[in-house]
Formats: sequence, structure tokens, C-alpha cells
Amino acid sequence: MQLADRMSHLGTETAFEVLARANKLAAEGRDIINLGIGQPDFKTPDHIVEAGRRALADGHHGYTPANGIPAIREAVAADIQKYRGIAVDPDHIVVVPGGKPTMFFACLMFGEAGAEIMYPNPGFPIYESAIRFSGATPVPIELHEDTGFSFNAEDVLARITPNTRLIIINSPANPTGGVVQKSDLDTLVEGLAAHPHVAVMSDEIYSRMVYDNQPHVSMLGYESLRDRLILLDGWSKTYAMTGWRLGYAVWPAALVEQATRLCVNDHSCVNAATQFAGIAALEGPQESVDVMTSAFDERRRVIVDELNDMPGVTCVRPGGAFYAFPNITGTGMSSQALQERLLNEAGVAAISGTSFGALGEGYLRFSYANSTENIREAMRRMRELLSA
Ligand code: PLP
Repeated sequence: MQLADRMSHLGTETAFEVLARANKLAAEGRDIINLGIGQPDFKTPDHIVEAGRRALADGHHGYTPANGIPAIREAVAADIQKYRGIAVDPDHIVVVPGGKPTMFFACLMFGEAGAEIMYPNPGFPIYESAIRFSGATPVPIELHEDTGFSFNAEDVLARITPNTRLIIINSPANPTGGVVQKSDLDTLVEGLAAHPHVAVMSDEIYSRMVYDNQPHVSMLGYESLRDRLILLDGWSKTYAMTGWRLGYAVWPAALVEQATRLCVNDHSCVNAATQFAGIAALEGPQESVDVMTSAFDERRRVIVDELNDMPGVTCVRPGGAFYAFPNITGTGMSSQALQERLLNEAGVAAISGTSFGALGEGYLRFSYANSTENIREAMRRMRELLSA
């Protein structure tokens, strides 16, 4: 068999591999605490599950429009108005199976040999993977601990070339939990006026998980970018719906048809019953989101304090999402070595920072979407390992 060259450029998301290994060890009887995979440890709220069940009972078994049924696109537009205070045309919304398809589509739309796409590093690994797969050159936007893993807007602007097609921004971020400051976004957007050939994809999938009473700053709020901004969000994290596969993007008017065409070619439409569940999530009670976010906030404090109390480890307080990204250089171990030892010797699954790009060396990612009790026990085991 002769595979296309592009297949050799496709990366992966190590969290899924670590999850498989952790599950295998658990199946063999090992006591494993999983702080590796990034998904809420809560169940999808009952009223959402019920709406999906009802849709199946009511006979919603067929194809839907490729961009999503009108009711879900209207519900998304209302949700954006409610939480971001921004009016969006439901016809600019394309509903897809999760957050990932939008980033893949954006990279396919803009990426080809000779094109450059900027992406956060350390960042969600699928960005770099999809960019490379498209044939484009990935240009890292460096994120550093001393700025709370925000980016330097001047630096980003200085690295734009005539070949730059797309800039990917992610706030709150995976894997760092970093939140980009509004002043940095302001500078970036102002500077982009001089580069009208550059589009932006803003991945705001953790938009409802921002702590310390900070508001979420959406890039959709910048009117000057509206004709070249792709906003990515979805249900996976906010409503504990990772396995349902439901996400959306707001596309600029000029790209809606192209995005819909990619849907038709790729998956036809999102599972019909899932779309009804998605409407119930957006239009129903939001208490479960608040309960989950408060729990994450409390666990965030616990894990950050515990990490900072460990030999060779320091951890900045993340402003959003549900990840802590401690600096482990003081342990004398590489990120990969510590990931392995934690899993094999302490039964704690965490992810090496290098799984999120070269700039992740010296860090580990812990997902604190787990019970406080498990987090404390995982930290106890890690301290024991590092103190040995
Ligand atoms: N964007 C970011 C930053 C993520 O961390 C994730 C999942 O971890 C996604 C997108 C993908 O979400 P989904 O599972 O809905 O495809």
C-alpha cells in the first residue's frame, strides 16, 4: 500500500493513549487515579439526556440539514447573545460533531504548502497536527509561564508574513489553563488591521470556565474582525457532553457555505437526537453548569496549593478551564520521564507537557476534573515519589 505523504504529518492527542494505558492498568487491578484526560467527571444533566431520548422516541432518526437544524442554530445564537452579549445570525452558525471538526476544517480551508498558520505552543495538540496535515507550516505562538501563559501580541504581529493565513487563539487554554488578557487581545486585533489577509480562529470551548470573577472575553466582540473570525465553541466541556459529539462554530459570512460543504463531504450532519439534546442544554436550567464550575474552582485551589508544596515543583494559578500546568524542572526529570514514573510507580495518570508542543518540556498537565479526594490522594502519591 502506498499512503499519501500527508498521512505521515498527522499527529495525535496523547491524552487518549494515556487514557487507554491507565484503563488497561486499572483492568489489571492497579489503583489508578486519572488526571490525564480532559473531560468533566460529571454526568450529562438529566434534562439533556431526556431530550435526546425523547427525540429518538419522537422519530428524529433521519438526516438533518448539514449545518444543523434551524432550532439548534437559533438556540446557539440566543446563547451567544446571553453569555457574550453579541448578536449573531443563526445562518452563520455551523453545528458539527464536537469542537475538533471546526479546527480541522479551518486548517483544511486555509492550509496548503507555502501557507503559514500560527498556533499556541504549548497548546491543544490537534492544532499543530491539523496544520501539518494540511501541508501548511506551523508557526508557534510561544506561551510562557511568567505571563500566566498569555501571549505577547506584539511578538505575534511581528511574525506575520505575506504567507500567514490563519492565527489560532485559545482562551481559556488547554493545557495551561491560561486566560489571555483583554489588553493583549486588543493589541492583537488593532495590529491585525494592517494584515487584512489573516483570518483568526478563536477556540473558546472553555468559555464558561473562567474563575476569580473574571468575565470571558470573546474575540467575537471585536467588530473589526467579524468578517474573518471563526469562533469555536461547543457542548463537550460546558455540559459534560464529551461523548455526545456536539460543537459549533460561527463562521464569517464568506465562509459559511464552504464550511457547510465540508460537513456534507465529511459527516452529512450531526446525529439528530444529539442536536435536540443540545437545544435542551442551551435553553434549559444552567444550575448544573454553575455547580460543576464551582467544583472545578475549588479543586483548582486544592491542586495548585498541593503542587506548590511539592519538592521541585511550582505551579501558577490557572485562570480557566480545568487544567493545572506545573513546572517540574526542579525535579531533575524530563516531563516524559515523570509522566511514566507517575503512571507506573504511583498509579497517577498525567500528561507530559511535550504532548502539547516542544515548549511544554519542563511541565506536566493535570486535569483536575476529578474528585477532591482523588486529587489529594494523587498529590500524596506524587509527593511520596518525589521525596523518595
Ligand atoms: N479545543 C480545546 C482547546 C480542547 O481542549 C478540546 C478538547 O479537549 C477541544 C477543542 C475538542 O473538543 P471536542 O471533544 O468537543 O471535540
